Amino acid sequence: MVFLYETRYFYGCWHFYEVRYFYVAGFYGISKMIMRGRLSGVQRMRLGKLLDMLYKPSELAEEIGFSYRQVSRVYILLGCPFVQQNGFIFINGRAFADWYEMTYPRQTLKSDEVFCLTCRKAVKIISYDTKKVGRLSYLVCSCSVCGRKISRIIDKEKR
Ligand SMILES: [Zn+2]
Repeated sequence: MVFLYETRYFYGCWHFYEVRYFYVAGFYGISKMIMRGRLSGVQRMRLGKLLDMLYKPSELAEEIGFSYRQVSRVYILLGCPFVQQNGFIFINGRAFADWYEMTYPRQTLKSDEVFCLTCRKAVKIISYDTKKVGRLSYLVCSCSVCGRKISRIIDKEKR
């Protein structure tokens, strides 16, 4: 396993990257996904309207829709870029959005996998049923590890 620490300055903030490379073979094939502080789909979409300007943690929290404590208790601890002025913390909106996308990569699932929220990882589909509600088709299966019931949208019919 190789750890590489990289520091860059842009958007008026220092960024500290911890880039981890894992050997493909062996136990380190999959890095553990960060779940804490992960945004919902709607919150993630709101990242797009953040501007290249400094926000107070409370303003950032209001724009995206999370508690301002989440900024100091989760994001700052995870290395979110920020500046300190007169003892107050400010966060550049665009820098935060970019940092978020890098820190919380979108989960890409293979066609034979579903994401289990209990196991917090992608698991193989062993057997499944298909259901259809309106124009949405989805499959319902049980997690092959913990047994949790999982559904996944498999097809959205076009109008
Ligand atoms: Zn599971």
